[in-house]
Amino acid sequence: MRYSLIADAYEKIEATTKRLEMTDYLVDLLKKTPKELIDKVVYLTQGKLYPDFMGIEIGVAEKLAIRAIARASGHSETEIEEDLKRTGDIGETTQNFVAKKKQVTLFQQPLTVQKVYETFEKMAKASGEGAMDLKTSLLAGLLANATPKEAKYITRTVTGKLRLGIADMTVLDALAIAYGGGKEAREFLERAYNISSDLGRVAKVLVEEGLEGIKKFKVMIGEPIRPMLAERLSSPQEILEKLGGKCVAEFKYDGERIQAHIDNEKITLFSRRLENITSQYPDAAELLKKHVKAKQAILEAECVAIDPETGEMRPFQELMHRRRKYGIQKAIEEYPVSLFMFDALYIDGKDLTVEPYPIRREFLEKTIIEGERVRIAEYIITDNPEELERFFLLAIENGCEGLICKSIGKDSIYRAGARGWLWIKYKRDYKGEMTDTVDLVIVGAFHGKGRRAGTYGALLLAAYDPETDTFKTVCKCGSGFTDEDLANLPKMLEPHRIPHKHPRVISNLEADVWFEPKKVIEVIGAEITISPIHTCAKDKIRKGAGLAIRFPRFTGNYRPDKAAEDATTEKEIIEMYRSQLKVSTE
Ligand code: ATP
Repeated sequence: MRYSLIADAYEKIEATTKRLEMTDYLVDLLKKTPKELIDKVVYLTQGKLYPDFMGIEIGVAEKLAIRAIARASGHSETEIEEDLKRTGDIGETTQNFVAKKKQVTLFQQPLTVQKVYETFEKMAKASGEGAMDLKTSLLAGLLANATPKEAKYITRTVTGKLRLGIADMTVLDALAIAYGGGKEAREFLERAYNISSDLGRVAKVLVEEGLEGIKKFKVMIGEPIRPMLAERLSSPQEILEKLGGKCVAEFKYDGERIQAHIDNEKITLFSRRLENITSQYPDAAELLKKHVKAKQAILEAECVAIDPETGEMRPFQELMHRRRKYGIQKAIEEYPVSLFMFDALYIDGKDLTVEPYPIRREFLEKTIIEGERVRIAEYIITDNPEELERFFLLAIENGCEGLICKSIGKDSIYRAGARGWLWIKYKRDYKGEMTDTVDLVIVGAFHGKGRRAGTYGALLLAAYDPETDTFKTVCKCGSGFTDEDLANLPKMLEPHRIPHKHPRVISNLEADVWFEPKKVIEVIGAEITISPIHTCAKDKIRKGAGLAIRFPRFTGNYRPDKAAEDATTEKEIIEMYRSQLKVSTE
């Protein structure tokens, strides 16, 4: 197949803004494509060589392209740079210079799609020393044999600027028309794409095995399944109505979605956007090796940053430290993660995407050996709006964003790649930010575990209410303490230790150790949220709930200058909560 057929089609596609015309041109091109090249042509029309999840890019910088154009055309790099400034388009500039080539290539051969694809592949694979030179000469070789029009699209492709605007769904339409017998085939093609994320493979199976092959398309380990997404509602009643009166409600953890493909010892992790992120989370891969009983599985989880000292969940932003190529070992120690498993899509030969959620969950529960760092998402099954609301508050209290409520009906299959009403998110409609520190009173403590054995894992902190002269809890704080702080805390607090809760302390939590309210420390948090557990501002904002500081952290400042009665008051906390609501919208 001549590459010129592709270039001609691109030119037409580029000239239209109408999706239907675009589809027609694509149909033409696909019909002209021999069977064995169909996958490659599909990838090429999207400016790629492979499906995205393989993470392989041709990776040619503009500078390198300029050098190659110079070599192929016999013009100087400065001339080309000047022209590029004028056109602003590396494709157009290439076309101009290939059209006015100084030397004529001997034995010029028409470019074939195979040749172009193979050369692109060599460029993508070139690495290490000499890679730049190799890429330049490979590109120059192609340009020397290309017509000006072909050259334009070749440089656009290698520099990642082939923007024909052909969406995945347009390719599926075109395939349905060209080889599926018409638009009716689209539904089956779409499912095949949604469970494989690989348009090239879908095209190949279609031309080789017909629609029957597409209908038999199977989930495959190593090919990410496009994620199922949730709709959103803002009241428990509405949610229950929409889900047929009863649902599973799960904590909506605030981390990064991970789709884990487990093939015996080999673990591959894909992000929500289906990038391969295994190298960012080698610790998560290790955890899965230990905690998954199946030999082969595709499971979904939310990967959440945790405090290395206390094991408590940390804000989502902390995971950003894991988005790096180097120093990953250090980042793993500083920003460890926990996995909260929430779906099973494939287990040992069984495609679960077609099963209703209760069955998938049963499989998930049978497959996961829970441990401190790998858990199944916290859930309830309920038909009661009040219970749903309480569970929502509990989720927030625990550092989650809210709930994902899921259908448990017969039709509750895994709808890959779709946002639908089988999953409904119930999130807070604001996200506050705590800008100021607060001074809180230490009223209790919890014993530490692991590295913190022998000292405290977290302190129970309270705000002061002058009206009732009581201390009301607002958070458990275990972060921000240095090793020295930790070693000193038991000594410092010992003189204030009492055998039971102090009468002026109001707490729903049972601390391991109680103190008389004396010591004040400075704390900063991420925000102030509604809490079903803490007693500060109880019933003042919402019936049955108080306020809590989310993600509290000791600033390092002890406040010996303050008496317990000088601590931040309940009223101040309420004001901070209200002003947060005013300034922030999501
Ligand atoms: P969008 O769906 O608009 O792209 P998003 O990616 O921020 O937004 P949301 O729709 O707000 O996500 O919520 C869905 C996300 O919630 C999932 O992609 C997943 O990462 C996360 N999540 C956390 N806990 C769960 C759970 N128990 N079940 C399903 N998803 C969960």
